[in-house]
Amino acid sequence: MFDIIRIPAFKDNYIWLLRKGAVAVVVDPGDARPVLDVLEREGLTLASILVTHHHNDHQGGVASLLSHYPAAVFGPATESITALTQPLHGGETIRLTSLGVDFQVIAVPGHTLGHLAYYGSGCLYCGDTLFGAGCGRLFEGTAEQMHDSLTRLAVLPAETAVYCAHEYTEANLRFALAVEPGNRHLRRRVDEVAVTRAKGLATVPFTIALERATNPFLRCSEAEVIVSAQSRAPQARNALEVFTALRQWKNEF
Ligand code: ZN
Ligand code: FE
Repeated sequence: MFDIIRIPAFKDNYIWLLRKGAVAVVVDPGDARPVLDVLEREGLTLASILVTHHHNDHQGGVASLLSHYPAAVFGPATESITALTQPLHGGETIRLTSLGVDFQVIAVPGHTLGHLAYYGSGCLYCGDTLFGAGCGRLFEGTAEQMHDSLTRLAVLPAETAVYCAHEYTEANLRFALAVEPGNRHLRRRVDEVAVTRAKGLATVPFTIALERATNPFLRCSEAEVIVSAQSRAPQARNALEVFTALRQWKNEF
């Protein structure tokens, strides 16, 4: 197994650094400086960079990192990724020899069309697809694509630790509570996250089990979620229609 170091960047991004011995892999380095600081402080060599999608807050630091370390760059084949050496479409298994682990690459279109998630050693790196109690905005894909992508992630093992790329949980929970005020798991999470954030701590990672219990976007077949969605979109019946209504509501929330 490897150690995972959380590197805050920008206003609310997280860059994840995976280390084993003196070697490191980073996920979504939007900014190089805080990553270089950790690599230098810990005496690490950067072996690989995993990119989930093309937005600058996820890959803006790649060029600068490569000027310091000759790392392999994994990312979506169909998106414009700086210095991409290992183009991926989803469905592959990649071997990160530096960490001694394999990751499954999962195509999760929706936020962007080529968006990828990386899953291995009980951890999921999902960029801007699944957030704590929420999901990414639909910048390029359709609601149907995002709904399918989230469904693929929701069926991962319950204990999977989810490492998303933004600290959005507290704001997402306000929306989740508006959708599902009767969900006691959700109310408990709201209380726990308020304490965590008041201490200035991170709410990420969280588990797939917790998301299944509290994330409205994974709960589009639950009775209370359907009724709430229908208050905004009376014609919403099936899970996709409920999801579409929730995503639209969240945009305006
Ligand atoms: Zn993004
Ligand atoms: Fe982002």
